Amino acid sequence: MENLLKFVQKSDAFDTNSKLKLILFLSGAKPSTYIQLRIDKNLHDKHEFEDLLKENNILFEASKPKGYEEITGIKANAAVWKLKGTWYGYDLFKNKEFNAKFLEYITLLKQKKHDTADRLAGVIYGYPQCCIETFIREHNKAQLAKKYSAYQYYKRLHDCDQKFPFISHTPCSTVCKQTKKLNLQYANAVKRKAPEFYKKYAKKRTYRLPLIVDVESSDIKWKKEDGHDYMLITKNPLEGRYCLMSWLSRGKYKRGTVIDATVTLQYDYAIINVHKKTGYLKNFHHERRFAKP
Ligand SMILES: [Zn+2]
Repeated sequence: MENLLKFVQKSDAFDTNSKLKLILFLSGAKPSTYIQLRIDKNLHDKHEFEDLLKENNILFEASKPKGYEEITGIKANAAVWKLKGTWYGYDLFKNKEFNAKFLEYITLLKQKKHDTADRLAGVIYGYPQCCIETFIREHNKAQLAKKYSAYQYYKRLHDCDQKFPFISHTPCSTVCKQTKKLNLQYANAVKRKAPEFYKKYAKKRTYRLPLIVDVESSDIKWKKEDGHDYMLITKNPLEGRYCLMSWLSRGKYKRGTVIDATVTLQYDYAIINVHKKTGYLKNFHHERRFAKP
């Protein structure tokens, strides 16, 4: 398993989130996981990854190749996306039992038995039951809009992101005991099994830079519109690429507004502190050939 852990940490084929999930899976903390492997000039990484999985007797299923795009520039009032390469999805399982449960999960989805499927997914990926039940209840958007104001709902999601950076489910609350326990257990597993990755992941980086306000993340009709969850795009590359980040604001901003902000990156989230509006890109939009972001 050490050879796989080493490969995962140094390979460019996995983004941070996939690396985290792979490390947790390989350390035995997660019974199953789903990750993405990206290929542009590094085709040998796919072969090496699959050889190492087989060598370690890990059951896996790989998807067909799909194209992936990245923002390559901001031109006038558009974010321009270009095809960068292909990616493959991998489902990995601890043993035959979890692989069988996963196949059952796919069947349930095809039969549109979503609640039963979600409960089974909780078992497959090791999510707490309280969070799964909340997740199922919150599928009902009308109920969600009744229970929370817009600000309350997104605040909960953002607070959970910051409080539990090692888990990948949606916690039922910021004080969920099971999630807290899992987050700590995962953090310790990563620290022990992949100390280099841990150091990089936990490192705080602060930048002051212009950001473009894009669309709001949902179209739920909240009873109280007291907050807006915006997608922001860095106007220039940050740490080598254009980044998308989500930002909860009390105030309303027009799409295309340029803001001057301080961004602190740590784990898988960004804390954004806005100083002032500095511009406006009229009719801001995305130029991409494939899916919408
Ligand atoms: Zn919970």
